[in-house]
Amino acid sequence: MSPRFEANLDWAHAQDAADPLRAFRDEFLIPPHEGHDSQPSDSVYFCGNSLGLQPRAVREAVNAELDYWGELGVEGHFKGRLPWMDYHEFVRDDLAAVVGALPSEVVTMNTLGVNLHLMMVSFYCPTPDRHAILIEAGAFPTDRYAVESQIRFHGFSPTLSLIELQSDEPNGTISMAAVERALAEHGSRIALVILPGVQYRTGQALDLKAITELAHKHGCTVGFDLAHAVGNLPLQLHDSGTDFAIWCSYKYLNSGPGAVGGAFVHERHARAHLPRFAGWWGHDKSTRFQMGPEFVPTAGADGWQLSNPPILALAPLRVSLQIFQRAGMPALREKSLKLTGYLEWLVQTQLADVLQVVTPAEPERRGAQLSIRVIGGRARGRALFEYLMEHGIIGDWREPDVIRISPVPLYNRFADCLAFAEVARHWHDGR
Ligand SMILES: *Cc1c(COP(=O)(O)O)cnc(C)c1O
Repeated sequence: MSPRFEANLDWAHAQDAADPLRAFRDEFLIPPHEGHDSQPSDSVYFCGNSLGLQPRAVREAVNAELDYWGELGVEGHFKGRLPWMDYHEFVRDDLAAVVGALPSEVVTMNTLGVNLHLMMVSFYCPTPDRHAILIEAGAFPTDRYAVESQIRFHGFSPTLSLIELQSDEPNGTISMAAVERALAEHGSRIALVILPGVQYRTGQALDLKAITELAHKHGCTVGFDLAHAVGNLPLQLHDSGTDFAIWCSYKYLNSGPGAVGGAFVHERHARAHLPRFAGWWGHDKSTRFQMGPEFVPTAGADGWQLSNPPILALAPLRVSLQIFQRAGMPALREKSLKLTGYLEWLVQTQLADVLQVVTPAEPERRGAQLSIRVIGGRARGRALFEYLMEHGIIGDWREPDVIRISPVPLYNRFADCLAFAEVARHWHDGR
């Protein structure tokens, strides 16, 4: 049954009033927008896919660590409410719940690009027969640069060893059949498959489990870039069977600009003798401070850590993950389906002559984000995007012609979706 929607403010307000998650919005700082009458009001923030909003509790959490530093100095590693020595473990259980993993399978460290390289050091082991990496055509630049540089680092050439999965659907999305065809054709020379959980430009969600099973059948190792999936979709990383995954925490995880990233390493690799770039923080915790010359990795994802973690950057992540823990991914997903469904319905019923949705229509093939094209080409797209920004509707623009609008269930409202539709309608009719 598709839910019944209405394009009026009374209906939207009634939905917001009945929303069981409505109180979470008050836990975030909503950037103000200075309207034409110079009266600031909340902006309509649809950019949580790019930089999630600040939880109000972050400031106090960061200040607490500054206070411990001031009062305890080096003793802060062992004293205080959350001793720094074990700090990354204080985020572990909540993070594991968000991504559907065992606590020992996840670690918070570095940033996405660094973790992608570290994972490829362990999981991209090319041989003369099997040396290729499969990524999607139009992958996020970091992913492509990282993959190409790893291929070169191993003495191969991207011309032969980088295989791009071409989209086969009208809006640039990828069917499972396309994945199957690519693996049937190239599988025997593919060492590693790296695909997104949610593709950043189209907003398409991929079926991690189905892709993993297929790739493993062809003898390929699999990793996912979950930059746009973590905190957006309820993931089941352990059950998906993927070998590894990586993500950043400043998008849907709301942990602040440049926040600490994360990685997942499947349990079956917990004690495997994989090649890895090692550092002291990955050393077996019980003997780390004997400072011996031989590296003995901690079992599980923790064994990939290089350095002692940035406490001031982990404090916001801890606060944010506690919000996710209280809200729960199932409830967030339930609201997200309805909220994004409403936005899509508004576009289709109120703006069909102006906008076209690129993101798949099937709810299970997308998360919060809708990627939207303006009918009539790129220049009109840019013009609408700028008009929206001037009117306090914050989305983002992705070349060549996509406006990304992401209603985030923790802080967006049905009334926000309606505001988007009304401003877009006004832009079109006013011309
Ligand atoms: C946001 C994003 C990144 C960013 O990488 P950083 O190392 O955090 O700067 C990388 N890949 C994808 C797919 C992204 O969406």
